[in-house]
Amino acid sequence: MRIVNKVDQLKDVIRQLKLAGNTVGFVPTMGYLHEGHLSLMRQAKQEQDIVVVSIFVNPLQFGPTEDFAVYPRDLARDSAMAESVGVDIVFAPEIEEMYPNGHSNLLTVVDVSELTEGLCGASRPGHFRGVTTVVNKLFNIVEPDVAYFGQKDAQQVAVIKQMVNDLNINVKVVAVPIVRESDGLALSSRNVFLSKDERQAALILSKSLKLASTLLAEGERNADIIRSAMTKLISDEPLAKIDYIAINDAVTLADVINIEKPVLIALAVKIGKTRLIDNMVWEG
Ligand code: AMP
Repeated sequence: MRIVNKVDQLKDVIRQLKLAGNTVGFVPTMGYLHEGHLSLMRQAKQEQDIVVVSIFVNPLQFGPTEDFAVYPRDLARDSAMAESVGVDIVFAPEIEEMYPNGHSNLLTVVDVSELTEGLCGASRPGHFRGVTTVVNKLFNIVEPDVAYFGQKDAQQVAVIKQMVNDLNINVKVVAVPIVRESDGLALSSRNVFLSKDERQAALILSKSLKLASTLLAEGERNADIIRSAMTKLISDEPLAKIDYIAINDAVTLADVINIEKPVLIALAVKIGKTRLIDNMVWEG
C-alpha cells in the first residue's frame, strides 16, 4: 500500500494505473477509521481493481463552534487498518495541499440547494458546501470509476448524487449500509468522545429508530405521531438533547406528513457535547 500526500503525485500514480486498464474505487473519509469505513473499503476492493482512500479532516465542512480542532486523528493506525483490507493507496494531504490559498476565502465552491436546507444542513450552516466542494476536488484529483459513501450520512449521499448528476461528473456513487455495534449504536469516529455513561445513553438514537419501525409495522402512517413518540423516548434520557428528528421523502428529502412512499427517518442528538446522527429508510 502506498501513502501519498501530494495531489500531483497521486494524479500521476492513478494515471498509470488507469492506463494499465485498472478500475478505480474511491472511499473519501476523515480518518480515525472504524468498521463502518472498512466496510466501504471492502466493498470497493471486491468491485474494483484499485482502491484509493482519502484521509482528510476537511476544515471547510466544520462550523466555527464545531469539533475540527479536536476531531480524532491517527494516520499510522488508519494506514494499518486500510492496508489490512487491501486498500492500494491512502491519500493523506495536508490542509495547505488541498487549499493552497487558505480555506476561509475560497473563490470557488460547490453548492447544492434545497437538499441541503433541512436535516443536518439546518443546524450546520455551510457544512454541505464544505462537503460538496471537497468531494468535487477529490473526484477531480482521483477520477474514480466508483465512489463509495456510507448510508450513515444519508443526506450526504443524496446531496452528492445530486451534485454528480447536475454537474455531469463521471463517477458512479454507491451507498453502503450502516455498520452498527452489536447493541445498535451506529459506528462513528466521534464515539471515542463518549464517556461510559454517554456511550450507554447514545443507544437512545437507534432505540428511537426501532420504535419508529415498530409503529410503522403496526400501521401508523402519521409522521407527526411517530416523531412525537421518538421525541418522548429521547427526552426521557437525561444525557440526550435532540437537534432534529426528521421524516422525509427518501428520494427528494421533502418533508412528509402522511407516510405513503419510502421515507428516510433521520435524527441528530447531542449526547453530552458529542453530536451523533443515525437514520433508517422505511421502504414501505
Ligand atoms: P467520515 O470519516 O465520518 O467522513 O466518514 C467517511 C465515510 O464513511 C462516509 O461515507 C460515511 O458515511 C461512512 N461511514 C461512517 N460511519 C459509518 C457507518 N457506521 N456505517 C457505514 N458507513 C459509515
